[in-house]
Amino acid sequence: MIYCDYNATTPLFPAVKNAMRHAMDSVGNPSSVHTCGRQARAYIEAARHTVATHVNCHPASVVFTSSGTEANNLALQSFAPHEVLVSAIEHASVARVFPQAEAIMVTAQGVIDRDDLATKLKTGRYKLVSVMLANNETGAIQPVQEVAMLAHQYGCAVHCDAVQAFGKIPVDMRVLGVDYMTISAHKIGGPAGVGALIVPVDGPLCVMHRGGGQERRRRGGSENLLGIVGFGAAITEIAEVSWERVALLRDQLERGAEELGAHVLAISEPRLPNTTVLGFPGMRSETLVMQYDLNRISVSAGSACSSGKVETSQVLQAMGYTRQDTVRVSLGWRSSLTEINTFLAVTQKIIQHADTTASYSQVA
Ligand code: PLP
Repeated sequence: MIYCDYNATTPLFPAVKNAMRHAMDSVGNPSSVHTCGRQARAYIEAARHTVATHVNCHPASVVFTSSGTEANNLALQSFAPHEVLVSAIEHASVARVFPQAEAIMVTAQGVIDRDDLATKLKTGRYKLVSVMLANNETGAIQPVQEVAMLAHQYGCAVHCDAVQAFGKIPVDMRVLGVDYMTISAHKIGGPAGVGALIVPVDGPLCVMHRGGGQERRRRGGSENLLGIVGFGAAITEIAEVSWERVALLRDQLERGAEELGAHVLAISEPRLPNTTVLGFPGMRSETLVMQYDLNRISVSAGSACSSGKVETSQVLQAMGYTRQDTVRVSLGWRSSLTEINTFLAVTQKIIQHADTTASYSQVA
């Protein structure tokens, strides 16, 4: 299979598997005071330090969670629904926490509209602004540093969902100036089921799980030791990936796809190095995804499929794009030039097949 869906999830790095295998032999509960417990605790604190070093925060600010989804929920639920302003292109784990929350509009290129943000902030109604660092569908990088500066002028705290950005572009909390930040392990070569919310030392935080006082009383429940160890190892590994190489492959793929008649969305804004959304006029996302899959290539639809009905994704809709003819291709460290060439050859075959079928049905 040619895997082009790294934004959905990623393969585990071999070093992550090794680190997790090693930790499997550890029996202690990190809350126990005996030697075995202290050994387990040491694993967790090492991972916490790795997170803190890579995002530039204090280790005590790192709260391990069960996912990026949980971290986003925790951040937003620390505020009342009417106090929260989100962008129109947030992941469902932000967008659906308070479906009634007001949304900052975005441009046709999928970047938040700064004027709209300023207008909304001026109402003085908000206490939290949540804007992601890079969009999961288009890869468009958001001006989070600017958002934070502006929001702080109006006394708002800022949450940033950095799940897709972390590991692919520099993510420094102090440079970004955000108060809360979400990351997740399975987007960076680590295991699914573990994430982290970085929290301000003195800011509000919703405690969703009450229990044994783990994570400094901020999230009860025995820690996911293996997951957290894998998360730490993945952070170290992903720092070694050459994203310049991946960006070159992505650019080659886009040029080739454009020559075949596709168009690229959100191309004129800074984007993640691995992500592209291709629109194929006259075709349908779900057919394209199936056709690629039949040719052993995994891509994802640029549309959301619910109750058997394919709809344009919220993100593309917010950009004013209403057609359902897109696929998202997201590359990663294992992607190769051979794979890109195969992808383009398959794309040509799919387009030719669609043309033949269309002229056939016109004659019939
Ligand atoms: N935020 C973004 C931008 C995502 O792309 C995802 C996953 O697709 C999440 C949050 C949720 O992360 P998790 O799968 O760890 O719950």
